[in-house]
Amino acid sequence: MLGRKKYVWLMVCLLGLFLTACGKKGKGAEDQIKIAYLPITHSLAVLEEADELEKKSGSKIELVKYGSWPELLDALNTGRVDGASVLIELAMKSRQEGAKIKAVALGHKDGNVIVVSKKIDKIEDLKGKTFAIPHRQSSHHILLREALEKGGLSIDDINVTELAPTEMPSALASGTIDGYCVAEPFGAMAVTADAGKVLYTSEELWEDSLCCGLVLSENFLKNRPEAAKKFVEDYKSAGASLSKEKAKETAKKYLQQPEKVLDLSLQWISYEDLDITKETYQVLCDKVKKYGLSDNPPAFEDFVKNDF
Ligand code: ZN
Repeated sequence: MLGRKKYVWLMVCLLGLFLTACGKKGKGAEDQIKIAYLPITHSLAVLEEADELEKKSGSKIELVKYGSWPELLDALNTGRVDGASVLIELAMKSRQEGAKIKAVALGHKDGNVIVVSKKIDKIEDLKGKTFAIPHRQSSHHILLREALEKGGLSIDDINVTELAPTEMPSALASGTIDGYCVAEPFGAMAVTADAGKVLYTSEELWEDSLCCGLVLSENFLKNRPEAAKKFVEDYKSAGASLSKEKAKETAKKYLQQPEKVLDLSLQWISYEDLDITKETYQVLCDKVKKYGLSDNPPAFEDFVKNDF
């Protein structure tokens, strides 16, 4: 039997332990950074950062996976996450409509292809055919427009349809569509399955093309400036460290795709130098206006945050 004093002492110790554990848990949750992503090669820099941080310091980025851009965007715009790796044109449109978000880095450079059925030999052959893009507000839309222009075609010469990325390879294989452009590795999937071929890589249509951006909420930037600064610095160095081999390891962990799909897809993309410069943003804005994605994209000073 425990004496009364010993019993009280034991209870105090247990309570102390309990409070310490709770305290730690509370602090951990407060320190957590919640980032939304889609399981695509275009999000690998933030996935790599999460892995590296956990290995180095045990601290975690809470990665929240979404199945589509609209769902991810809703989470970002309603403050359910602190940031996201997202199509930059979608983020620009959200900002234009009042969303409190800032772009702090690129997701990647290049990394897209125009995939077509094997019956299509040149862009002119797409006349009267159906082509899929994931969203009107995307670099995939811009790349299609650039390709059409090369062949002297206009957007009215083809049927454009918006499809979920996961549906595109099978739609091409079944002949429902004749081509598509979308985040990777969905282009590489059709090519490795021998259901389609690459007509253009993104750099053939738009040098140093932009596509996805890392976007953070203004709330997070305002309330936790030090955490945001460190997060962006670590993100850029994680991107710079992504060799083809390392990118493949991270992709295997998060994307669940066959190696041959990843090997092909990763040939097309780079994660180095993810700063958003005024010059590259201006090129993007010019294309956004030229192809009617938006008449009034947000100004660089309003949308991009580089001054950490
Ligand atoms: Zn992208």
